[in-house]
Amino acid sequence: MKNYILSVDQGTTSSRAVIFDRRGQIKAMAQQEFKQIYPQSGWVEHSPKDIMGSVMAVIAEAAVRADISADEIAGIGLTNQRETTLVWDAKTGKPVYNAIVWQCRRTASYCEKIKERYSEIIYEKTGLIPDAYFSATKIKWILDNVAGAREKAERGELLFGTVDTFLMWQLSKGKIFATDYTNAARTMLFNIHTLKWDEELLDIFGVPESMLPKVCPSGYNYGFTHKSVLGAPVLICSAVGDQQAALFGQFCTDAGDLKNTYGTGCFLLMNTGRRAVRSENGLVTTLGASLGDRPPYVLEGSVFVGGAVVQWLRDGLKIIDCADESETLARKVEDSGGVYIVPAFTGLGAPYWDASARGIITGITRGTMREHIARAALESIAYQVCDLVSAMEKDAGIKITCLNVDGGASKNDFLLQFQADILNCPAVRPEAIETTALGAAYLAGLTAGFWNSLDEIRSNANTGRVFTPDMSVDVRERLLNGWNKAVGRALK
Ligand code: ADP
Repeated sequence: MKNYILSVDQGTTSSRAVIFDRRGQIKAMAQQEFKQIYPQSGWVEHSPKDIMGSVMAVIAEAAVRADISADEIAGIGLTNQRETTLVWDAKTGKPVYNAIVWQCRRTASYCEKIKERYSEIIYEKTGLIPDAYFSATKIKWILDNVAGAREKAERGELLFGTVDTFLMWQLSKGKIFATDYTNAARTMLFNIHTLKWDEELLDIFGVPESMLPKVCPSGYNYGFTHKSVLGAPVLICSAVGDQQAALFGQFCTDAGDLKNTYGTGCFLLMNTGRRAVRSENGLVTTLGASLGDRPPYVLEGSVFVGGAVVQWLRDGLKIIDCADESETLARKVEDSGGVYIVPAFTGLGAPYWDASARGIITGITRGTMREHIARAALESIAYQVCDLVSAMEKDAGIKITCLNVDGGASKNDFLLQFQADILNCPAVRPEAIETTALGAAYLAGLTAGFWNSLDEIRSNANTGRVFTPDMSVDVRERLLNGWNKAVGRALK
């Protein structure tokens, strides 16, 4: 009996495999961290062997822990760190360079140079703001800097893929060469309106079309893994970028639905349905997960330093020993005592977009204690998300009535209550905050016929906790005012 879906979540710092049963409950899980490579300041790479090795290891471990064999798995769902770029030899499968990670800034000065000339074209076609973050300039860098790569690419001997494509190619021993709309939409080469690779952009970035994978819906029968992976071939039936997986995993399938993931950074995504909303507030427009050929449009904004501010309390200031302690400290004081932290450690993203802004702490007095600092740090996460939500409300022209939340820092009840208070709207945390793996599993299960409908899945999902706003208008306005002033001081 095929009673399980295997979800593989290939993230930035670790790979995970999660086996779900028919009720969407976790049967077994395995996780492995891998090395971050920093060849120069601002550069970030992963070894393709580490990516593959960790994925193979967690798949095997999860299957052993669940005590199941390949013939019990109805399908595999893949979800991945987005934008990270790999180029490999079409014959041997050998990568010509390490994976260049989304965080890597090596092409930042090139992006600055092309901004004036190409920003409008790029935004019109891809919904993105030209930035080193997206894959296009990473591919160009590899072709320009690896000896012989450009010539080989022009002869059709090299392939490009984001991590989903690389995994599928490797897991199928070269049989599957494909990606999905959500990953393609982050390359800066894909036209999100025509849903095709864009010739003009390929020309601008010097990327031969022969390198590019076929683009399919996120829920799709991509093909079978090689039998060496699980002992017998298993169908891969979804591939989806991590943030869009979480959006789907939170059941945000209707226009206006949105979720925020509180991880190292924060990612706010809103499904805008058939409407590709043009942002006037520094958000990007991208594609969401679908089971068919018409993926929904999505508005996306991100906060660079979210949960990372808590890591800073722990590793930089050393005022807490573990992340959970931030909540205990914050609750010991009634408010932040007028202290605001703007954690612009690497500049500020949407809606400010100031790369040279730097972090500040304002309002310190003789009475300021570490409790106030911890509280102000957690509040800073909520204020930044609040700024993103306001930008999104303006762009989409709707008022948000509920924020779905997930991610590691969403465990923090204080943070979520403050978030609800400052937004003046409920924050809803599902019982399972593994929404990324769940989203990929739902898409795979629906494609494989393992589940019949999203409603069926939803009826099994446990409702989590709702944080209801409980703050007076006066207090909210005073706090937001203080935050806005602090941000003003952090901007250059
Ligand atoms: P990522 O997927 O980006 O690696 P996770 O979703 O695993 O991130 O979340 C990790 C982040 O959440 C870290 O930045 C950590 O500081 C933060 N975090 C974890 N637990 C808590 C907590 N109880 N309170 C606040 N932040 C937390």
